[in-house]
Amino acid sequence: MPELPEVETVRRGLVPVLEGRTILATHLNRPDLRWPLPERMAERLTGARVLRLGRRSKYLLAELSTGETLIVHLGMSGRILVSGVTLGHFVHDHPAPQKHDHVVFEIEGGARITFNDPRRFGAMDLTATTALDCHRLLAGLGPEPLGNGFHELYLIGRLGGRQTPIKAALLDQRVVAGLGNIYVCEALHRAGILPLRQAGRIAAARLAILVPATRTVLAEAIEAGGSSLRDYRQADGELGYFQHNFRVYGREGKPCPTPGCPGTIRRVVQSGRSTFYCPQCQR
Ligand SMILES: [Zn+2]
Repeated sequence: MPELPEVETVRRGLVPVLEGRTILATHLNRPDLRWPLPERMAERLTGARVLRLGRRSKYLLAELSTGETLIVHLGMSGRILVSGVTLGHFVHDHPAPQKHDHVVFEIEGGARITFNDPRRFGAMDLTATTALDCHRLLAGLGPEPLGNGFHELYLIGRLGGRQTPIKAALLDQRVVAGLGNIYVCEALHRAGILPLRQAGRIAAARLAILVPATRTVLAEAIEAGGSSLRDYRQADGELGYFQHNFRVYGREGKPCPTPGCPGTIRRVVQSGRSTFYCPQCQR
Protein backbone atom coordinates (compact mmCIF):
# COMPACT_ATOMS: atom_id res chain seq x y z
CA MET A 1 0.00 0.00 0.00
CA PRO A 2 1.45 3.40 -0.88
CA GLU A 3 2.37 5.36 2.24
CA LEU A 4 2.99 9.09 2.59
CA PRO A 5 6.53 9.07 1.09
CA GLU A 6 5.31 7.15 -1.95
CA VAL A 7 2.43 9.58 -2.45
CA GLU A 8 4.80 12.53 -2.07
CA THR A 9 7.09 10.89 -4.66
CA VAL A 10 4.16 10.54 -7.05
CA ARG A 11 3.33 14.22 -6.46
CA ARG A 12 6.89 15.33 -7.20
CA GLY A 13 6.98 13.16 -10.32
CA LEU A 14 3.72 14.64 -11.59
CA VAL A 15 4.51 18.31 -10.93
CA PRO A 16 6.68 18.83 -14.06
CA VAL A 17 4.07 17.32 -16.40
CA LEU A 18 0.99 18.72 -14.70
CA GLU A 19 1.50 22.09 -13.00
CA GLY A 20 0.60 25.01 -15.23
CA ARG A 21 -0.78 22.65 -17.89
CA THR A 22 -4.27 22.17 -19.22
CA ILE A 23 -6.12 18.86 -19.09
CA LEU A 24 -7.01 18.26 -22.74
CA ALA A 25 -9.13 15.14 -22.23
CA THR A 26 -10.27 12.81 -19.47
CA HIS A 27 -11.25 9.22 -20.22
CA LEU A 28 -13.24 7.29 -17.65
CA ASN A 29 -13.31 3.55 -18.25
CA ARG A 30 -15.77 2.86 -15.45
CA PRO A 31 -18.19 4.91 -13.32
CA ASP A 32 -16.61 4.17 -9.95
CA LEU A 33 -13.49 3.32 -7.99
CA ARG A 34 -14.04 2.79 -4.28
CA TRP A 35 -16.96 5.19 -4.58
CA PRO A 36 -18.74 6.58 -7.66
CA LEU A 37 -16.61 9.05 -9.59
CA PRO A 38 -17.93 12.64 -9.42
CA GLU A 39 -20.82 13.58 -11.67
CA ARG A 40 -19.80 14.86 -15.11
CA MET A 41 -16.19 14.37 -14.06
CA ALA A 42 -14.72 14.40 -17.59
CA GLU A 43 -16.63 17.59 -18.47
CA ARG A 44 -15.56 19.35 -15.30
CA LEU A 45 -11.88 18.48 -15.81
CA THR A 46 -11.47 18.94 -19.53
CA GLY A 47 -10.11 22.39 -20.38
CA ALA A 48 -9.13 23.09 -16.77
CA ARG A 49 -5.58 24.17 -16.02
CA VAL A 50 -3.77 22.67 -13.04
CA LEU A 51 -2.60 25.62 -10.96
CA ARG A 52 -0.87 23.61 -8.27
CA LEU A 53 -0.43 19.97 -7.29
CA GLY A 54 -0.42 19.63 -3.52
CA ARG A 55 -0.77 16.86 -0.99
CA ARG A 56 -2.67 16.46 2.28
CA SER A 57 -2.00 13.20 4.13
CA LYS A 58 -2.10 10.57 1.37
CA TYR A 59 -4.39 12.63 -0.89
CA LEU A 60 -3.07 14.32 -4.01
CA LEU A 61 -4.79 17.66 -4.56
CA ALA A 62 -4.83 19.19 -8.02
CA GLU A 63 -6.04 22.77 -7.71
CA LEU A 64 -7.76 23.74 -10.96
CA SER A 65 -8.37 27.01 -12.76
CA THR A 66 -12.11 26.25 -12.57
CA GLY A 67 -12.23 26.83 -8.81
CA GLU A 68 -12.42 23.12 -8.09
CA THR A 69 -9.80 20.75 -6.72
CA LEU A 70 -9.39 17.16 -7.87
CA ILE A 71 -8.74 14.84 -4.93
CA VAL A 72 -6.95 11.58 -5.73
CA HIS A 73 -6.23 8.70 -3.35
CA LEU A 74 -4.24 5.68 -4.51
CA GLY A 75 -5.96 3.28 -2.11
CA MET A 76 -4.30 -0.12 -1.67
CA SER A 77 -3.08 -0.81 -5.16
CA GLY A 78 -3.46 2.39 -7.18
CA ARG A 79 -0.59 3.19 -9.56
CA ILE A 80 0.10 6.25 -11.65
CA LEU A 81 1.90 5.95 -14.96
CA VAL A 82 3.21 8.82 -17.02
CA SER A 83 3.90 8.32 -20.71
CA GLY A 84 4.50 10.36 -23.82
CA VAL A 85 7.04 12.78 -22.36
CA THR A 86 10.72 12.67 -21.50
CA LEU A 87 11.26 11.61 -17.91
CA GLY A 88 14.92 11.85 -16.92
CA HIS A 89 16.86 10.04 -19.63
CA PHE A 90 13.91 8.02 -20.82
CA VAL A 91 10.98 8.62 -23.08
CA HIS A 92 8.13 6.36 -22.13
CA ASP A 93 5.97 5.66 -25.15
CA HIS A 94 2.27 5.37 -24.51
CA PRO A 95 1.75 1.76 -23.45
CA ALA A 96 -1.07 -0.37 -24.79
CA PRO A 97 -4.15 0.03 -22.58
CA GLN A 98 -3.98 -2.34 -19.62
CA LYS A 99 -6.65 -4.04 -17.63
CA HIS A 100 -7.54 -1.83 -14.63
CA ASP A 101 -6.62 1.45 -16.40
CA HIS A 102 -9.63 3.23 -14.93
CA VAL A 103 -8.94 6.91 -15.56
CA VAL A 104 -6.68 8.42 -18.22
CA PHE A 105 -5.78 12.11 -18.52
CA GLU A 106 -4.30 13.68 -21.65
CA ILE A 107 -2.26 16.71 -20.68
CA GLU A 108 -1.13 19.72 -22.68
CA GLY A 109 2.53 19.12 -23.60
CA GLY A 110 1.98 15.49 -24.57
CA ALA A 111 1.86 13.65 -21.27
CA ARG A 112 -0.67 10.93 -20.64
CA ILE A 113 -1.35 10.13 -16.99
CA THR A 114 -2.95 6.76 -16.34
CA PHE A 115 -4.56 5.69 -13.06
CA ASN A 116 -4.48 1.90 -12.79
CA ASP A 117 -5.97 0.19 -9.75
CA PRO A 118 -6.66 -3.57 -9.72
CA ARG A 119 -8.31 -3.62 -6.29
CA ARG A 120 -10.20 -0.35 -6.69
CA PHE A 121 -9.76 0.98 -3.18
CA GLY A 122 -8.56 4.21 -4.76
CA ALA A 123 -10.78 7.27 -4.96
CA MET A 124 -11.24 10.50 -6.89
CA ASP A 125 -13.49 13.42 -6.09
CA LEU A 126 -14.00 17.01 -7.20
CA THR A 127 -14.86 19.75 -4.75
CA ALA A 128 -14.83 23.55 -4.58
CA THR A 129 -11.30 24.62 -3.61
CA THR A 130 -12.68 27.04 -1.02
CA ALA A 131 -14.48 24.14 0.69
CA LEU A 132 -11.58 21.71 0.52
CA ASP A 133 -10.87 21.66 4.26
CA CYS A 134 -14.49 20.65 4.91
CA HIS A 135 -14.45 17.74 2.46
CA ARG A 136 -15.48 14.50 4.18
CA LEU A 137 -12.15 12.82 3.38
CA LEU A 138 -10.04 15.70 4.72
CA ALA A 139 -12.07 17.37 7.46
CA GLY A 140 -11.08 15.18 10.41
CA LEU A 141 -7.39 14.84 9.62
CA GLY A 142 -4.76 15.74 12.20
CA PRO A 143 -1.68 17.82 11.37
CA GLU A 144 0.81 16.81 8.70
CA PRO A 145 3.77 14.97 10.26
CA LEU A 146 6.19 17.15 8.26
CA GLY A 147 4.27 20.37 8.93
CA ASN A 148 4.52 22.96 11.69
CA GLY A 149 1.38 21.73 13.45
CA PHE A 150 3.07 18.49 14.49
CA HIS A 151 5.31 19.34 17.41
CA GLU A 152 6.24 18.24 20.90
CA LEU A 153 3.53 20.14 22.80
CA TYR A 154 0.83 19.10 20.36
CA LEU A 155 1.74 15.42 20.67
CA ILE A 156 1.99 15.53 24.46
CA GLY A 157 -1.43 17.19 24.68
CA ARG A 158 -3.05 14.88 22.13
CA LEU A 159 -1.80 11.65 23.72
CA GLY A 160 -2.35 12.65 27.34
CA GLY A 161 -4.65 10.14 29.05
CA ARG A 162 -4.83 7.82 26.04
CA GLN A 163 -4.80 4.19 27.01
CA THR A 164 -4.24 2.80 23.53
CA PRO A 165 -0.78 1.54 22.54
CA ILE A 166 1.40 4.30 21.07
CA LYS A 167 1.45 2.52 17.73
CA ALA A 168 -2.35 2.61 17.45
CA ALA A 169 -2.39 6.27 18.53
CA LEU A 170 0.05 7.24 15.76
CA LEU A 171 -1.99 5.32 13.18
CA ASP A 172 -5.06 7.33 14.20
CA GLN A 173 -5.38 9.84 11.35
CA ARG A 174 -6.99 12.39 13.69
CA VAL A 175 -3.78 12.47 15.77
CA VAL A 176 -1.39 12.81 12.85
CA ALA A 177 -2.29 12.54 9.17
CA GLY A 178 -0.85 10.09 6.69
CA LEU A 179 1.27 7.83 8.87
CA GLY A 180 0.91 4.14 8.04
CA ASN A 181 2.11 0.87 9.49
CA ILE A 182 5.63 0.88 8.03
CA TYR A 183 6.70 4.38 9.00
CA VAL A 184 5.13 4.21 12.47
CA CYS A 185 7.23 1.08 13.18
CA GLU A 186 10.32 2.84 11.86
CA ALA A 187 9.70 6.07 13.79
CA LEU A 188 9.11 4.24 17.09
CA HIS A 189 12.33 2.29 16.63
CA ARG A 190 14.23 5.48 15.86
CA ALA A 191 12.79 7.06 19.01
CA GLY A 192 13.47 3.99 21.22
CA ILE A 193 9.80 3.66 22.17
CA LEU A 194 8.10 0.26 22.49
CA PRO A 195 5.09 0.12 20.10
CA LEU A 196 3.01 -1.61 22.79
CA ARG A 197 3.61 1.13 25.37
CA GLN A 198 0.42 2.89 26.52
CA ALA A 199 0.39 6.27 24.71
CA GLY A 200 -0.72 8.36 27.70
CA ARG A 201 2.03 6.98 29.92
CA ILE A 202 5.07 7.90 27.86
CA ALA A 203 7.18 10.66 29.42
CA ALA A 204 7.06 14.02 27.65
CA ALA A 205 10.81 13.94 27.05
CA ARG A 206 10.44 10.67 25.15
CA LEU A 207 7.50 11.94 23.09
CA ALA A 208 9.64 14.95 22.24
CA ILE A 209 12.14 12.58 20.57
CA LEU A 210 9.34 10.94 18.60
CA VAL A 211 8.54 14.11 16.64
CA PRO A 212 11.99 14.52 15.02
CA ALA A 213 12.28 10.73 14.66
CA THR A 214 9.05 10.66 12.64
CA ARG A 215 10.15 13.56 10.48
CA THR A 216 13.56 11.98 9.82
CA VAL A 217 12.12 8.61 8.85
CA LEU A 218 9.70 10.24 6.39
CA ALA A 219 12.28 12.68 5.03
CA GLU A 220 14.75 9.87 4.34
CA ALA A 221 12.10 7.86 2.52
CA ILE A 222 11.05 10.90 0.46
CA GLU A 223 14.71 11.45 -0.39
CA ALA A 224 14.95 7.80 -1.56
CA GLY A 225 11.82 8.40 -3.64
CA GLY A 226 13.42 11.54 -5.06
CA SER A 227 16.45 9.57 -6.27
CA SER A 228 14.12 7.10 -7.95
CA LEU A 229 12.58 10.05 -9.81
CA ARG A 230 15.94 11.49 -10.85
CA ASP A 231 16.89 8.42 -12.84
CA TYR A 232 13.40 7.09 -13.52
CA ARG A 233 14.50 3.52 -12.90
CA GLN A 234 10.96 2.33 -13.42
CA ALA A 235 11.19 1.50 -17.10
CA ASP A 236 7.46 1.89 -17.65
CA GLY A 237 7.11 5.41 -16.28
CA GLU A 238 5.38 4.32 -13.10
CA LEU A 239 5.76 6.80 -10.27
CA GLY A 240 6.08 6.31 -6.58
CA TYR A 241 7.45 2.88 -5.79
CA PHE A 242 11.10 2.77 -4.88
CA GLN A 243 13.70 0.71 -3.06
CA HIS A 244 14.14 1.78 0.51
CA ASN A 245 15.86 0.02 3.37
CA PHE A 246 13.90 -0.21 6.59
CA ARG A 247 15.55 -0.68 9.97
CA VAL A 248 12.86 -2.87 11.53
CA TYR A 249 9.94 -3.25 9.11
CA GLY A 250 9.99 -6.72 7.52
CA ARG A 251 13.20 -7.65 9.39
CA GLU A 252 11.97 -10.18 11.95
CA GLY A 253 14.86 -12.28 13.32
CA LYS A 254 17.53 -9.92 11.95
CA PRO A 255 19.98 -8.06 14.20
CA CYS A 256 18.90 -4.62 15.38
CA PRO A 257 20.72 -1.94 13.35
CA THR A 258 21.03 0.47 16.30
CA PRO A 259 24.78 0.87 16.92
CA GLY A 260 25.86 -1.23 19.92
CA CYS A 261 22.44 -2.85 20.39
CA PRO A 262 22.60 -6.65 20.75
CA GLY A 263 18.84 -7.04 20.09
CA THR A 264 17.04 -9.10 17.47
CA ILE A 265 14.03 -7.65 15.65
CA ARG A 266 10.73 -9.15 16.72
CA ARG A 267 7.30 -9.19 15.12
CA VAL A 268 3.99 -9.08 16.95
CA VAL A 269 0.48 -8.52 15.63
CA GLN A 270 -1.37 -5.45 16.91
CA SER A 271 -4.92 -4.77 15.69
CA GLY A 272 -4.42 -7.31 12.92
CA ARG A 273 -1.26 -5.72 11.57
CA SER A 274 2.39 -6.63 11.95
CA THR A 275 4.51 -4.58 14.31
CA PHE A 276 8.28 -4.88 14.11
CA TYR A 277 10.44 -3.69 16.99
CA CYS A 278 13.61 -4.32 18.97
CA PRO A 279 12.96 -5.54 22.53
CA GLN A 280 16.40 -4.30 23.65
CA CYS A 281 16.52 -0.65 22.63
CA GLN A 282 12.78 0.13 22.54
CA ARG A 283 11.20 0.57 25.94
ZN1 LIG B 1 17.86 -2.51 19.27
